[in-house]
Amino acid sequence: MEMPVSFDYAPAPESRAVVSIKPKYGHFIAGKFVAGSKHFPTINPATEEVLSQIALAGKAEVDAAVKAARKAYTTTWSKMSGKERGKYLFRIARIMQERAREFAVLETLDNGKPIRESRDVDVPLAAAHFFYHAGWADKLEFAGLGTSTKPHGVAGQIIPWNFPLLMLAWKVAPALAAGNTVVLKPAESTSLTALLFAEVCQQAELPAGVVNIVTGDGSTGALIVNHPGIDKIAFTGSTEVGKIIARAVASTHKSVTLELGGKAANIIFEDAAIDEAVEGIVNGIFFNQGHVCCAGSRLILQESVADEVLEKLKARMAKIRVGDPMDKNTDVGAINSKEQLTKIIELSASGEAEGAQRWSAPCDLPNKGFWFAPTIFTGVTQAHRIAREEIFGPVLSVLTFRTPQEAIDKANNTPFGLSAGVWSEKGSRILWATQQLRAGVIWANTFNKFDPTSPFGGYKESGWGREGGRHGLSAYLKGVGHE
Ligand code: ADP
Repeated sequence: MEMPVSFDYAPAPESRAVVSIKPKYGHFIAGKFVAGSKHFPTINPATEEVLSQIALAGKAEVDAAVKAARKAYTTTWSKMSGKERGKYLFRIARIMQERAREFAVLETLDNGKPIRESRDVDVPLAAAHFFYHAGWADKLEFAGLGTSTKPHGVAGQIIPWNFPLLMLAWKVAPALAAGNTVVLKPAESTSLTALLFAEVCQQAELPAGVVNIVTGDGSTGALIVNHPGIDKIAFTGSTEVGKIIARAVASTHKSVTLELGGKAANIIFEDAAIDEAVEGIVNGIFFNQGHVCCAGSRLILQESVADEVLEKLKARMAKIRVGDPMDKNTDVGAINSKEQLTKIIELSASGEAEGAQRWSAPCDLPNKGFWFAPTIFTGVTQAHRIAREEIFGPVLSVLTFRTPQEAIDKANNTPFGLSAGVWSEKGSRILWATQQLRAGVIWANTFNKFDPTSPFGGYKESGWGREGGRHGLSAYLKGVGHE
């Protein structure tokens, strides 16, 4: 008798021994860790285990951080040559690489993302951002932004929970390269890697006050935004909060960049390489549990290939491994918080109520923690909430089209404009489509690829300004030619 062959994966858990999490954290101000007054718990969303207590910064702490950043700016950082600043950035980048495993494990524990992604994407890209900007520090006058640029001074930076360390790197590296000092606030559910980064700043002997990290929630964020001692605000998060910030800084001296929501179209033309496109669709929406502002959350399929693509997509989704983020074979980890899970459940329910058909990948979800099976909705119309609102979870809305122009019209029919994807074997069609699409980042025959040299940012309600590349650098400089 023939024995059935099993290709199941054996458990391959990453060890958490490499990290030591303190029971309680304070803030990082003027080069030192200072005790907080109030605290709130941070949990592992995969197990609901309390990992640590995080401090909630109020007015006094934010004041102290801004003061430290100002002092460091006037006495040290603005006086230092670009070459010297660059040395610190190189040093930080190298230490991040040396401590990469620690960062990856900590990120996965605090955020719920698979270790494979924190290890292979978040941490290497974060280090790459420091390396890239280290190179610019002494070459700013050759960046094509004019020869009389100057830093803004003190930058207030507020980041979200989906890529905690990477968003920190996107913000801190260009700010320091351009000669600014920083007060940064991580998101309330994911502060731990920012606090580990504070240790890296100490290890790199970065002058005290150049980087200050205060933890807390939206109230702490608002204190930073409204602080008169801040010269530039950089924010990544929801469009809702982005609008509040834009209003708050209007008619002040503060310069601002906003990287907000998205509802990206991923367009599959009938001549696309279908198997590759299916991989791109999966990567586009299920990478990082779909907690990605540029996620390909609207699949726009040419009708002639729709059945074939959907059949292959479902077969592929049935093989996605959902579960323990610390397992090296996991593809989709935990939803970052109970609040986010509630939002995903609510929006998915609206999809069914409004008449779309739901299909979820068969998978056993753990009993504890926050989980959502990879899901697609077919029969979605442009009026449905799931076609218009950002779900920020592993949920894909599928629409179809007959003519290329219809694909573009549907893709652009959104208040957002952050990213898009185009799949076709025909170069002229790709060029035509990318010229019509109103999105800041457009991928052709790939999706969710990031590089420090490449500017990232959106149109319309997806935000203001760009991060990364020369464009991103310009946001941290005054007197740039085009300003
Ligand atoms: P999300 O919906 O992804 O949680 P938010 O926009 O609420 O996104 O949060 C992104 C970041 O903005 C977090 O660090 C959060 O604490 C902060 N934040 C929330 N509300 C405000 C506010 N009113 N002003 C400044 N920062 C805020």
